[in-house]
Amino acid sequence: MKHLDRCVELATNALETGNPPFGSVLVDEKGAVRYEGHNLVADGDDTQHPEFAIARWAAANMTPDERAASTVYTSGEHCPMCAAAHGWVGLGRIVYASSSEQLVAWLEEMRAPAPPIATLPINTVVPGLRVEGPFAAQAEAIRKLHKQHQENRE
Ligand code: ZN
Repeated sequence: MKHLDRCVELATNALETGNPPFGSVLVDEKGAVRYEGHNLVADGDDTQHPEFAIARWAAANMTPDERAASTVYTSGEHCPMCAAAHGWVGLGRIVYASSSEQLVAWLEEMRAPAPPIATLPINTVVPGLRVEGPFAAQAEAIRKLHKQHQENRE
């Protein structure tokens, strides 16, 4: 749970720097945090998701066995781009605080634009991967951050 709480903190940092509130942490087999980051799309590159950054970092810095034994904690379920990157580099379990289904419902409720790509569940993109989530307490914190983000955009 402490890793999911850290994801909420990172998502808060994202929001504070003008980015949508998403944050992710890569934890290895021994429980050590190897990489953490938040969404960085504010400069205009909409592919700058933390889960994509984690996949690239892991490919460059971890062996295939280390990647398979690691866990990615994230504030919001991977989008299909990030799920594909995760699957391509052979990373292990994903634990997310809030689901893509929740995000879409929240955006609708907030009358915010829907994402331009389909919000597929991770297992539709990466069959067989261990995935856990959502978790109510952190999901509610994330919902509030999205609400704040939409208010900041208005
Ligand atoms: Zn993504």
